[in-house]
Amino acid sequence: VAPVTGDQVCWICGDPGTTGEHGVKRSDLKALYPDVSQQTPLYLHLPDGGITRIQGLNSDALKLASKLCPTCNNTRTQPHDRAWETLAQRLRQPEVRAGHVIRLSEAFSALGPNAPVDLQLYFAKLTGCLAQEGGIPIDIAELADAIKTGRPCPDLYLRFGKSPPDKEVVGIVGAEVIRDDATRKVVGMSWYYNLGLVLVHVIHTPSPHLFASLCVDAWHPGGAADEVFVHDYGPLL
Ligand SMILES: [Zn+2]
Repeated sequence: VAPVTGDQVCWICGDPGTTGEHGVKRSDLKALYPDVSQQTPLYLHLPDGGITRIQGLNSDALKLASKLCPTCNNTRTQPHDRAWETLAQRLRQPEVRAGHVIRLSEAFSALGPNAPVDLQLYFAKLTGCLAQEGGIPIDIAELADAIKTGRPCPDLYLRFGKSPPDKEVVGIVGAEVIRDDATRKVVGMSWYYNLGLVLVHVIHTPSPHLFASLCVDAWHPGGAADEVFVHDYGPLL
């Protein structure tokens, strides 16, 4: 993966990109690993496949290489962050287990009516950043449009899951292209937002029928959008 260097433009709006987006949200790590320190480090997976040891949650290693403008990174995407934070809080609860269904109308009762779309757009922002910095050929303009208009991204599917308590390895795992088995053509991208106990499998593809086992029961804001199924993921790493 080529590092992102030089002057960057914000891939969402085209303004100069000056601020680094967090890969894994600090608040997510803080809630699950409040005591990260030199004595109790956390092992962070990086989008390029490397692993780094972090000894505190202010580490720059938590930020992605892809840069956004301050407006897109903060103001524009604030409701998206809030929607994810709200669902993340619910997913973290020990009584929420694989096989359960979370109703967004309940989980998001304190948020506005666009919260389910905002939830998807949180992962649209990260997907665009990862695709940009990894040179992964997906339609980033589609993600940018969805973020700018506050409308659902048609091609972005999310699978929320729990995995067994394991070693404290977190981060962005396996950001890579997915290919059509028959033609070997690139038809999308897949990655994991891995918090250890809680994870989100993100799939971007205009051809969900090619990945029916992943996309059919994935969550998308549309259809049965009120129900978030909690999938059972084994230890990822
Ligand atoms: Zn921007």
